Amino acid sequence: MKIEKVEFTQDMKKDYKILVPNMLPIHFKLLISILGNYGYNMELLETSGPSIAQTGLKHVHNDTCYPAILVIGQLIDAIENGGYDKNKIALMISQTGGGCRASNYIHLLRKALIKAGYGYIPVISLNFSGTEKSSGFDLSLKVIQQLAYGVLLGDLVMSLYNQSIPYEVYKGSCDKQVEAIVTKVSNHFRGRTIIRYKEIRMLAQDIVKRFNDVEREGTQKKRVGIVGEIYIKFSPLGNNDLEKFLLSEDAEPVIPGLMDFCMYVVYNGIVDYKFYGRKALGALNSRIMYEYMLKKQKDIRNVIKENSNFVTPHDFEEGRKMVSKVISLGVKMGEGWLLPAEIIAMVAHGVNNVICTQPFGCLPNHIAGKGMIRKIREIYPKANIVPVDYDPSASRVNQENRIKLMLSDAD
Ligand code: SF4
Repeated sequence: MKIEKVEFTQDMKKDYKILVPNMLPIHFKLLISILGNYGYNMELLETSGPSIAQTGLKHVHNDTCYPAILVIGQLIDAIENGGYDKNKIALMISQTGGGCRASNYIHLLRKALIKAGYGYIPVISLNFSGTEKSSGFDLSLKVIQQLAYGVLLGDLVMSLYNQSIPYEVYKGSCDKQVEAIVTKVSNHFRGRTIIRYKEIRMLAQDIVKRFNDVEREGTQKKRVGIVGEIYIKFSPLGNNDLEKFLLSEDAEPVIPGLMDFCMYVVYNGIVDYKFYGRKALGALNSRIMYEYMLKKQKDIRNVIKENSNFVTPHDFEEGRKMVSKVISLGVKMGEGWLLPAEIIAMVAHGVNNVICTQPFGCLPNHIAGKGMIRKIREIYPKANIVPVDYDPSASRVNQENRIKLMLSDAD
């Protein structure tokens, strides 16, 4: 089947709405508000429920990676049931540009659209590697920098939220803070194409203060890490509201930031040069970008340390160095070495209980995640890791029972 690409053009930018599938609600709201300043009218899809996977299964082969089924299902469900003008919408989907199948989700989506009779709807690739371009959607270095600031703030909010919500005295106070923060940060960004880092730092200080102000009580609960394939790890739709489930089990969820994934992708530019003969210039650019991101992430960690007693997220570079004892950095399909790096960094900092979320059809993460558990346990005997599979037919009860069993052994 020949798949024609319908381009998102400059003209469409004026009056088309771009629909964005959800993965990380807080982060994506911030990123959409940043992109709004560059003239994009975007909407985050917040639909959920089993009908999304069913729609995905109708349009994508059931052997495909589970994240693709959900993302494509959510987009097609929005076209059919969202009440949008079908002639004035475009769809956005990420394209990692690596060797894994996530680079091809966009083709699966286009194929599904053609088959469903929506082949005229333009699809935009969100990628930072120049894999596919649209004349109406441009990610310059300046825009990428602003988006990175949005990711840093999103990571900060997520971390403090997870450290506060299990202990909040007044139910709903953490959610209220998140809502107020998203509004404040979006307003701060509104109408401006350039925000300087010193403003981001001030916003970060305000975020820490707001969570400091949340009244909390109770003793330390079991801290449980969530790692795994990026979509399933973060998306409540993908992991059956894992965070909420952990809270209901009286645990404190610990989730690595989205910036860690971005740094993993950037660092792999250096790996490509060292292991796979790519050009030195690409590695040099990656090195410069990596150092910049590390510096900013470190500074946000300092903001937390200077202004609160919250635990700071682990240092990415520390995890990267530690993981090379168990796996080669050349293993970079899917989440590759990032996955054991996150587990090790957690365990090394006392988060011994870790859930490794694995989507159906994901070979790289089964190798770099499940496959590394024995090796990690040899070095860190206290590590209590449970791999949990997620797919359209997996029973939520079974998933939750596996996690309950792990929690019964948790310290
Ligand atoms: S990492 Fe796994 S789920 Fe993601 S594209 Fe690759 S195989 Fe599919």
